Amino acid sequence: MNAPEQVILLRQHLIDPEVCIRCNTCEETCPIDAITHDERNYVVNADICNACNACISPCPTGSIDNWRTVLRASAYSIAEQLTWDELPAQQELPAEGALQVEPEAESAPAPADGTALAAVVDGQQVNAATTSTSQVPPWSAAHPYLNLYNLKRPVTATVAGNFRLTAPDADSDVRHIVLDFGTCFFPVLEGQSIGILPPGTDASGKPHYLRMYSVASARDGEREGYNNLSLTVKRVETDHEGKPVRGVASNYLCDLQKGDTVQVTGPFGTNFLMPNHAGSNILMICTGTGSAPMRAMTEHRRRMFAKGKPLDGKLTLFFGARKPEELPYFGPLLKLPSEFIDMHLAFSRVSGQPRAYVQDKIRAASQRVAELLRGDTYVYICGLKGMEAGVMEAMQEVCSANQIDWPALHAKMVAEGRFHVETY
Ligand code: NAP
Repeated sequence: MNAPEQVILLRQHLIDPEVCIRCNTCEETCPIDAITHDERNYVVNADICNACNACISPCPTGSIDNWRTVLRASAYSIAEQLTWDELPAQQELPAEGALQVEPEAESAPAPADGTALAAVVDGQQVNAATTSTSQVPPWSAAHPYLNLYNLKRPVTATVAGNFRLTAPDADSDVRHIVLDFGTCFFPVLEGQSIGILPPGTDASGKPHYLRMYSVASARDGEREGYNNLSLTVKRVETDHEGKPVRGVASNYLCDLQKGDTVQVTGPFGTNFLMPNHAGSNILMICTGTGSAPMRAMTEHRRRMFAKGKPLDGKLTLFFGARKPEELPYFGPLLKLPSEFIDMHLAFSRVSGQPRAYVQDKIRAASQRVAELLRGDTYVYICGLKGMEAGVMEAMQEVCSANQIDWPALHAKMVAEGRFHVETY
């Protein structure tokens, strides 16, 4: 009698189209080009994917971490996946005994613990940070809550305020938007982000996918003790090349009125979290609305400082914006003593003044930056992708001038959860 024919199974890697925010991070991360996309979906080619795990951690939503065990011969094709609106259910498989699992499937990653922070440039393609950056949080960071609400079960927040930070006649419209969660449990930490679901559908009749924004308020609320948070949102009217584009979510958010309701998912983000030990210095480098998580961290420390809690660590901020009024630090945050926060502001479009970028300010403060890098310091870089290379060059120069081996220190800081980059 012949032995039963062996059936080969594959644990197929799939991306959940309902959760994916089409941010391109997975495609950029994949070392073997197994991920591709069209206008609708991001998909994984089963003939190429070797389940190496590289794409799992950087995904901001967790949509990348989906697996179905399938017959190798009938794995879902790229063409099939590109038509999906949701993932298929797990198929029934042949009885045990006739099964053989493909070797690479056994190395498929365990489900990701959650998400890495990212924010979506509304209406634009988002690029993942390429600088080597930490996938681990600071050792003393608080433990974040993750994915409490998703596309199928979002939470409704009410707009408590929508404040324009830029002057009425300024070119850019940057908003400070406060969302209230009422009695719904929605805990966030500084450095985490939330998903916003813009209402309506896109040109192809599909619901708009979610956009992510960094939380700009401290963990205990925009107003201390209130179940609310704030976002810093710039109305997107052009893309990075200056071509006109209407950002779906940013325009939706910037037009919200007090009392309107918003569908929210999240919280997201496991790494870009602040250290909680009193001796830690925080070095924040940001451009534009990338200042949102910096505002959150500064406010958390300000509240501790105001209460006289032990706090030896210092804050240092390098902030780059077109004009001074784009700094979303206002009220008490503008009156902070210099022994609490050392602020270096770089403005690029103030008439009569030469253009300044954050990297220029880092060079100018070379000794202080070197002192910080030698100490118990946590670095956070957030904002435009373009500034990343400039900041890294400035760091290298600062270190060379101060006899620090930057490549070695950088690698150490990354490994220790002390160097975090989120640029788009
Ligand atoms: P922006 O106003 O366009 O630019 C901010 C500043 O950065 C300007 O002074 C700009 O100078 C300068 N800049 C431009 N290129 C630079 C370079 N190569 N090196 C250093 N500085 C440079 O910025 P934005 O529109 O607010 O964009 C902020 C970014 O942060 C976006 O990509 C956004 O997605 C991201 N982000 C947002 C959030 C959020 O929650 N909203 C969170 C995380 C990240 P010029 O005058 O020369 O343009």
